[in-house]
Amino acid sequence: MTAIPDLTLNNGQQIPQLGFGVFLIEPQDTVSAVSTALQAGYRHIDTAEMYGNEKEVGEAIRQSGLDRDEIFVTSKLSNDAHRPDDAREAFDGSLKALGLDYLDLFLIHWPLPTRYYGDFVSTWSTLTEFYRDGRARSIGVSNFQPHHLRRLHAESEIIPAVNQIEVNPYLTQDEVRGFCAEHQIAVEAWSPLGRGNVLSDNAIAAIAQRAAKTPAQVVLRWHIQRGDIIFPKSVTPDRIRENIDIFDFGLSAAEVETISALNRNERTGPDPDTFDGR
Ligand code: NAD
Repeated sequence: MTAIPDLTLNNGQQIPQLGFGVFLIEPQDTVSAVSTALQAGYRHIDTAEMYGNEKEVGEAIRQSGLDRDEIFVTSKLSNDAHRPDDAREAFDGSLKALGLDYLDLFLIHWPLPTRYYGDFVSTWSTLTEFYRDGRARSIGVSNFQPHHLRRLHAESEIIPAVNQIEVNPYLTQDEVRGFCAEHQIAVEAWSPLGRGNVLSDNAIAAIAQRAAKTPAQVVLRWHIQRGDIIFPKSVTPDRIRENIDIFDFGLSAAEVETISALNRNERTGPDPDTFDGR
């Protein structure tokens, strides 16, 4: 299998372009799913305090016998912990649950413009403490719209390394991706398979047949060729292996365009401008 490419973030840190997401994996299934992923060659795990499985992710990492610096680990701040003191406690809690002394990436999970008086800038400023003291090698945001990012640009010295947003063929996110490209913020595409919704699309099926790959592999390859970072989730070992086996084929520019043209601006998750995180 061809190696997973590393991308370089705006602070010089390297991140594997494909990782493994653990949202909605039950704690009792997490050690086994993450172990399967690490055995299959994944070296990047995306978790969050709110997923309730940081402890089990840490356990799987320890059981793998891999060195800490071989695995890129992301976690995210709980929506209930945006106040600076709460954020400090939550960050310590994530490190403790994972059993790690640093994270590769720590994100504000949602901007929550209707809570905390809309003040995600103080929250960001607290994350910069973890970056400066080295316990977060990179920091970033998730579900931020261009107007949220503009505020951080205006009010903070440190630019997010990534913005993790929902992206799939039915939600191509041209505006946010364009803003991020212009400002050297890497895009991480969450729910890259649209939680499975896009996999029965006829146009994707036709391309999969031509490429002798599965629809899931074609969609993941589409993200990779667009330059986004992805971490598909599955608890099924065969699918975990299928989702990493996307580096031995390519889509033509026309095929990438055909898939991008499926856009319907259709979210599967909440709207970041109104979501209150509860
Ligand atoms: P996903 O798009 O990765 O879809 C996962 C689902 O697709 C699986 O449950 C399974 O039903 C199906 N699937 C997976 N592989 C398949 C295959 N090869 N063939 C057929 N079906 C397959 O959805 P997700 O888990 O919601 O997103 C991935 C990751 O993104 C999460 O685990 C999490 O790490 C991250 N995420 C972040 C946020 C955020 O707000 N930042 C929100 C949601 C998800």
